[in-house]
Amino acid sequence: MMALLEVEDLRVAYGKIEAVKGISFRVEAGEVVTLIGTNGAGKTTTLRTLSGLLKPVTGKITFDGQVLNGVGAHKIVAMGLAHSPEGRRIFPRLSIEENLQLGAFLRRDGDAITKDIQRAYELFPILGERRKQAAGTLSGGEQQMLAMGRALMSQPKLLMLDEPSMGLSPIMMQKIMTTIRELKAQGTTILLVEQNASAALSLADHGHVMEIGKISLSGTGQELLHDESVRKAYLGED
Ligand code: ATP
Repeated sequence: MMALLEVEDLRVAYGKIEAVKGISFRVEAGEVVTLIGTNGAGKTTTLRTLSGLLKPVTGKITFDGQVLNGVGAHKIVAMGLAHSPEGRRIFPRLSIEENLQLGAFLRRDGDAITKDIQRAYELFPILGERRKQAAGTLSGGEQQMLAMGRALMSQPKLLMLDEPSMGLSPIMMQKIMTTIRELKAQGTTILLVEQNASAALSLADHGHVMEIGKISLSGTGQELLHDESVRKAYLGED
């Protein structure tokens, strides 16, 4: 059986700088898979390539049975692959509700869109309370919630989250991690990039450690969480 997402020997370069040096991994439907690793390891580059924003040098990406190489970014969203990017990238002058509506820009099913906006408000009640407010007035954590809510508005088969806990207080981070668990329980498949390795591994089915463009270690979330080299390098233990 083919996995929902299959990445084979992916290489991505910025000019002469090779940021991703031949990585392979898969994401099965219903799973949470995490990519962890230090700054500059190539995690964001990997997600941007899967989204169609960067062209790989070589490698094959298969999503839901279709080859993604050469497919444009809009088409990839329409196929069911959504990306909540690093640094959030919400539209600060638009209201929260307008930001959510933009996440559904490819859909024509107005009633279902309204239902999904309600669902985003159930997931993140603060967004509902502030629905008419300019998104730029939200706190960092709230903007992260909005970015996740907006990505969900495309009804993705696979949701890619790039460092959702970045810059958040421990309480906000817990809230985001709890929401990722809820989304998984509702059947959403998630590819999670995180600097916070311990939080990511504790909820992931599988994880991959990236180091300077390569996957250096793979395992179940629990295996990696208890791996001595991972504990030393990424969980701050000695
Ligand atoms: P971080 O957690 O810091 O975001 P990352 O694992 O996501 O790290 P990437 O952002 O994918 O890493 O970066 C991988 C490598 O590619 C780094 O060496 C980075 O400097 C380089 N890089 C990223 N974006 C560009 C760019 N637009 N032009 C040139 N080099 C880039």
